[in-house]
Amino acid sequence: MTCATCGELPDDVWANTGRDQHLPDASRKLKSPWPHASGVDVRLCPGCGAWFVWRDHPQYYGSGNLDEEQLTRLAPRAWRTLERLLHGDLEPDAAGVMREAFTHLPADLLREVARNMGDEARLRVAPSFVERLFLGGQAEEDAAAVLFDTRWRPGMDERLVELLEAAPSPLPSKRVEYLLEQCRAGLAKKRGS
Ligand SMILES: [Zn+2]
Repeated sequence: MTCATCGELPDDVWANTGRDQHLPDASRKLKSPWPHASGVDVRLCPGCGAWFVWRDHPQYYGSGNLDEEQLTRLAPRAWRTLERLLHGDLEPDAAGVMREAFTHLPADLLREVARNMGDEARLRVAPSFVERLFLGGQAEEDAAAVLFDTRWRPGMDERLVELLEAAPSPLPSKRVEYLLEQCRAGLAKKRGS
């Protein structure tokens, strides 16, 4: 059965808002769980529980404003994982939830989720992001972005120092060495004050 609220939304729709286009009206009925949307946001259909990703693509060329918005329907197999992360529902196997997340959720969304999740949940999934640092390539880059974003959140410096010091040596890259340095410095500052 087609959902009366979101059924008419295509799986992926763009609007050139810089040129007065806008996303289909149905998109305005979707709800965000977060008070402040950045450039990436999640939206829930109150009718059927489907999840969407909303993205802002600001683009300015000369005098033309080519700002675009994009709304993409997430595959149903990703919904439960997203909800567990949003609610901090990670027991008994946080690493398992994160494996699903790395497989089914886009990296930019996961980064935004990590920023918005509860402090305890963030500490709980930190080892999964640290593990990704050792895979190299895009996986490392995405994980590092999340950890640099969130390392100043409660308990994160401490947790990351602990995890990175226990990790196989040497660390995989200058980027990860710098992350550890930053966390140690943050920790020293905290202990000194
Ligand atoms: Zn719906």
